[in-house]
Amino acid sequence: MKYEAVIGLEVHAELSTKSKIYCSCSAKFGAGINEHTCPVCTGMPGALPVLNRQVVHYAAKMGLATGCTVNRLCQSARKNYFYPDLPKAYQISQAEHPICSDGEVFFYVDGKKKSCRLERIHFEEDAGKLLHDEIDGTVVDFNRCGVPLIEMVTRPDLRSSAEAKEFLETIKTTLSYLDICDCKMEEGSIRCDVNVSIRSEGSEEFGTRVEMKNINTFSGAVRAIDYEVARQIDVVEHGGKVQQETRRWDDVKLKNTVMRTKEDAQDYRYFPDPDLIAVEIDDTWMEQIQSEIPELPLARYERYLHDYGMTAMEARQISDSFAKANLLDAAAASGKIEPKKAANWILSDISKYLNDKEIEVEDTMLTPDKLVDLICLIDKGTISGAAGKKVLIELFEKDETAAQIVKRLGLEQVSDEGAILAIVQDVISRNEKAVADFKAGKNVTGFLVGQCMKASKGQGNPQIINKLIAQELSKL
Ligand code: ADP
Ligand code: MG
Ligand code: ZN
Repeated sequence: MKYEAVIGLEVHAELSTKSKIYCSCSAKFGAGINEHTCPVCTGMPGALPVLNRQVVHYAAKMGLATGCTVNRLCQSARKNYFYPDLPKAYQISQAEHPICSDGEVFFYVDGKKKSCRLERIHFEEDAGKLLHDEIDGTVVDFNRCGVPLIEMVTRPDLRSSAEAKEFLETIKTTLSYLDICDCKMEEGSIRCDVNVSIRSEGSEEFGTRVEMKNINTFSGAVRAIDYEVARQIDVVEHGGKVQQETRRWDDVKLKNTVMRTKEDAQDYRYFPDPDLIAVEIDDTWMEQIQSEIPELPLARYERYLHDYGMTAMEARQISDSFAKANLLDAAAASGKIEPKKAANWILSDISKYLNDKEIEVEDTMLTPDKLVDLICLIDKGTISGAAGKKVLIELFEKDETAAQIVKRLGLEQVSDEGAILAIVQDVISRNEKAVADFKAGKNVTGFLVGQCMKASKGQGNPQIINKLIAQELSKL
């Protein structure tokens, strides 16, 4: 029998607010153990939470960017459970009134457009962290307690690990375009729970699902899904039944084990948090949030494919980066250059420079105008492509225009035919062997062009050199 996988994801993203969700502690990652704590986030008796307005703003922004309905009245609820990293013994989250609901996220898998619906997006606080140490035993670090999260819950619309991966990548680039999450996977900024079931192909009914929690890389999610789909098929093929349970994915041993079964499923006893009043997003606030949403990664990707003649890979590489996409769009908006030429620079020399230095475009002096000027200088033949690469490095590092740099470095291409003819004639007269080879029917143009470029210190216009070499050789 053929089986189909059915997958639903619960994705947690840490929001990049300055302070935590219910207190004024810093939400920054990487402080010393328990340095970013106060009575509120460590759950001391009598401490009262106050909702951070920025969290509501960011959560609603993500909702608008993913086609959700933003529910204007935001209520908080307590989700009760005990764990040593949660000193209050409840997490402040949202229950039946999430800030956003009913969205849809679009993405491409192997050139086909797919989508996955979002059931909801709600905001909540993160829990602390247990640090297990062989000598000191277990240390509880409450720094992460109260760091704001949004949780995005999908409908079970995904049908393969490849779809899950592209969905997750789209969520990530959307978060980074919106500038609401730092997306540092290695710091746990985005984590997900995966829910997996199988059914026979063509069936309309859903099978029993298994959940795997807290997976912190997208490749790990792919491995966890592939493993679980294979495991469930194996269970069914051997006459068994998939049990509804939570399993722990081990990304080192590459297998999962039962964590808890349906019998000990938790009842979180959600109830409205009496310490927090509902917050309403009024029209002015909504308009403000809406106005901050830029053209999103998928729209740009499609535009680059259809309008700029880029390949899927090129369009993806640029649209994945907000900074690179903005550079391309601003350069194209000048109307002075072919967008594809700017894209080529961004994908090659610009990306290489930024990767080597591990920085972003905005950390350099390069601007769209400067890039446009550079391309125009090459288009007009003022400088060669090779000289352009030298100019680019200067554009990153100096507050000068491309023209100023060309002048300062003396990179201007020689296009004066008289001057080049003199060089060509000199090179031909000094290379008797090449002339002999030419007379014997060999192609010596490449060699002679190289010699002429050398003689002109790289500044001779190669088109003119080529033309004049052909002209002089034909006279022999
Ligand atoms: P819980 O709160 O217990 O985790 P939910 O009903 O909220 O349960 O579902 C959580 C996730 O499980 C959602 O992302 C949903 O899409 C997914 N899901 C639900 N049913 C299935 C199924 N049969 N197979 C795979 N995923 C499923
Ligand atoms: Mg769940
Ligand atoms: Zn605090």
